[in-house]
Amino acid sequence: MVKDIFDTHITYLKGVGPKKAKLLVDELDIHTFNDLINYFPFRYVDKSKFYKVKDITTDAVWFQLKGTITNMTSVGDKRTRYITAKFLDETGSIDLVWFRGLKWIKSQFVPEKKYVVFGKPSVFKNHFNFVHPEVEEFEKVQQDISLNRLEGIYNSSEKLKNSGLGSKGFSRIIKQLLNQTAEQIKESLPEYIVKHYHLLDRKTALVNIHFPANPNIIEKARHRLKFEELLLVHLQILQQKHHLKLKFRGHVFEKVGNYLNEFYNKHLPFELTNAQKRVIKEIRTDIKSGKQMNRLLQGDVGSGKTLVALMNMLIAIDNGFQACLMAPTEILAKQHYATLTNMLGNMEISIELLTGSRPQKERTIIHQNLQDGSLQILIGTHAVIEDTVQFNNLGFVVIDEQHRFGVEQRARLWKKNDIPPHILVMTATPIPRTLAMTVYGNLDVSIIDELPPGRKPVKTLHYWESKRLRVYGFMRQQIKEGRQIYVVFPLISESEKLDLRNLMEGFETIVKEFPPPEYQVSVVHGKLKSKEKDVEMKRFVDGVTDIMVSTTVIEVGVDVPNASVMIIENAERFGLSQLHQLRGRVGRGAEQSWCILMSGNKLSNEGRKRLEVMVGTNDGFKIAEADLQLRGPGDLQGTQQSGVLDFKIANLASDGELVVKTNKIAGHILKKDAPLVLPENKLLKEQLELIRKGGQNWGRIS
Ligand code: ADP
Ligand code: MG
Repeated sequence: MVKDIFDTHITYLKGVGPKKAKLLVDELDIHTFNDLINYFPFRYVDKSKFYKVKDITTDAVWFQLKGTITNMTSVGDKRTRYITAKFLDETGSIDLVWFRGLKWIKSQFVPEKKYVVFGKPSVFKNHFNFVHPEVEEFEKVQQDISLNRLEGIYNSSEKLKNSGLGSKGFSRIIKQLLNQTAEQIKESLPEYIVKHYHLLDRKTALVNIHFPANPNIIEKARHRLKFEELLLVHLQILQQKHHLKLKFRGHVFEKVGNYLNEFYNKHLPFELTNAQKRVIKEIRTDIKSGKQMNRLLQGDVGSGKTLVALMNMLIAIDNGFQACLMAPTEILAKQHYATLTNMLGNMEISIELLTGSRPQKERTIIHQNLQDGSLQILIGTHAVIEDTVQFNNLGFVVIDEQHRFGVEQRARLWKKNDIPPHILVMTATPIPRTLAMTVYGNLDVSIIDELPPGRKPVKTLHYWESKRLRVYGFMRQQIKEGRQIYVVFPLISESEKLDLRNLMEGFETIVKEFPPPEYQVSVVHGKLKSKEKDVEMKRFVDGVTDIMVSTTVIEVGVDVPNASVMIIENAERFGLSQLHQLRGRVGRGAEQSWCILMSGNKLSNEGRKRLEVMVGTNDGFKIAEADLQLRGPGDLQGTQQSGVLDFKIANLASDGELVVKTNKIAGHILKKDAPLVLPENKLLKEQLELIRKGGQNWGRIS
C-alpha cells in the first residue's frame, strides 16, 4: 500500500529539519504533515492595510506600519540587556524593543531601508512601543502581499519563537506544506453529508483556514472543520455506547426484596418526588435488561440523588450482590457514609467506609469481609479501586463524580468482575448539555428535574465588605427567630496558611460580634482533628450552636434543615458550581432561606459575573451553562484528563448549537447504519479507524 503523504514525519518538510521538528513534537505534539495541516490559526489580521504611526491607539490589537528603523541602542548591563530602536514614518515615531536574540537583531537593519513592522502596541513612558515586532523588508513584503492579505495568527511557544517558528514561521512552513500537498487533500466526509449540510469540501476548507482567499470564507472553513470534528466525536462515542450495549452482559436484578421493602416502608420519611420515581424506573429497566447499565444521574443540589442511589443499592443487595459508592474525596466519602448509615437506621445491613486514612488492620478486615461477601455496601474513595480490594460479587456501583474521576479510574472498577457491575455516575451539580453529550456521551442520562416539595427558593444577595455591619444585624435577627447560620471561608490549597488565618480572624470577629453566653459559635476547618470536627459538627447539627464558621469542608453533606442562612466570605474566590453547591446547604427546611455573598470592593470581571449569575438564578442547569461560558471547557474541573476536550477547532462553550446538531446527525447516521458498513458511510468508518489508531481510544468509560 502506498503510504499516505500526510503521514510523513514533519522533519522531512522543507524548511523544518530535525531541530525544529523535535521542537514541534515536544511543544505542540505535531509529528506529521497531517498534524501540521490541522494546526489552525486562532485569528486573522488584514495585512493589506498599512497604518500610520499617528493612527496607533491601544484599542486595536495589531498594527502594520511602513517606515525606517534608526537609533538602534543597547540598554542595560549584561543580565538585563535589551535593544531599542526608533521606527519612523512621515507622521511620527514609536519605539521598537527586543529582549531576546539581540545579536541577530543588531546585525539586521540597514538605515534608510524601508521596512514593514507589525506588532501590538503597548505604552511605556507615554510613548507607544512594539515589543518583539515582526519586521520584514518592504520590498519582500510587496512581492508576496498580493498572494495573501489575510494572515492567520498561530499560537506558538517561547522555544518555537526563538527558533524561527513564531506565527510567521508557521505561516511559512504551512504554506510550504500546502504547496507540496494541497492537490492530494482528499475529502473525508461522505458526499451526501457535504451536500446536505452545505459544507465546504475539505481541501478548500484546509487551504482557506490557513490562507483565506477572502474574509467571508474563513467562517465557512471553520464551520466545515468544526462540523467534521464534532461529528466524528459523536459518532465515536455513540458507536461505542452501542457496542457496549451489545457486548457486555449485565447482572439481572429480578426482584425487589426485603431490604428495599423494609427501607421503603419503615425508613423513608417522605413521598418520593415524581422525578425520583421516574429515574428509579429508568434504572430498574436497565438492571433487569441483562445488559450492563452505564447511566449518568443528573440533578440539582438537594434534588435527592443520594436517595435514588441508595434505593438501587438496596435492590442490588436484595438480589444477592454487593454495592459500592465511590466519592472523589475523603470528606465526601465520610459524609456519604454518615448519610447512608443514618438513612438506613437500624436495618441489618453491613456497610463500611474505606479511605486511605483507615489503619491497615481495619482495612484488612474490610478486605476479608468484601471477599467473603459478608460486607454488603462499601463506601470509599479511590482506595476502593486498589488492586487489593476484591469484591465477592459486586453488582452495583455508584460514582459520585463531581467531574473528578477519570475514564481510567472508572475502568479499573470494571475489571473487578467477569460480568461488570451496573454503573451509576452521579454529578454533584448539573453539567452543561454539551459536556453531557461529549464527556459523558457514552452514558445514558437520567435527570431529576424537580426538588422535593415545600422548598422555598433560597434568596441570594451580594453584599460588599462595607455593608458588613448590616449583615451582622440580619444575622442577629435570624438567630433571634431561632435559625442557624453557616459562615464559609474559602480554602484553596496554594494559600492554605493564609486562608486558615483568614478563617481564624473571621471566627474571632464573629465571636466578638456574637459573644457567649447569648450566642454560641462553632468552628471547623481542615487542620482540626477528625474527632474535634465531629464534636463541633454535632453541636451545630443538634442546634447547640447558632453559627458554624468553617472552610468548605461542609460543602456537601451536612443536612441541617434549621440552618437557613449561608454566608459566603470572599465569594468571588469560589467557582460557580462550588457556590451553588454551598447554597444548596440551606433551603432544606420550611423557612425562607438566604444566601449572602460577601465580597471585597474590587472584583475582576469574571468574579463579578459569577456573583451576578448566583444572584440571578437558583437553577443549577443554568448555572452550569454560565460556568462553561465564563471559564471555557478546558478549565472545568477534571474534564482535562478525559481527553475529550482536546478539540482542534471546535469549542464546547461557544459551539453549543453545532454540538447539539452534530450529535443529532450522528444519531441518525448510526440508527440507519450502526456499524457504518454502508458504502455511503465508508469515509466515516475510515476516519473513525484512523482516530482509534491515533491512540485516541476512548476505552470503556465506566
Ligand atoms: P442531592 O444529593 O441530590 O444533592 P440529597 O440526596 O442529599 O440531594 O437530598 C437532599 C435532601 O432532601 C436530603 O435531606 C434528603 O433526605 C431530602 N429528600 C430527598 N428526597 C426527598 C423527597 N422526595 N421528599 C422530601 N425530602 C427529600
Ligand atoms: Mg448529594
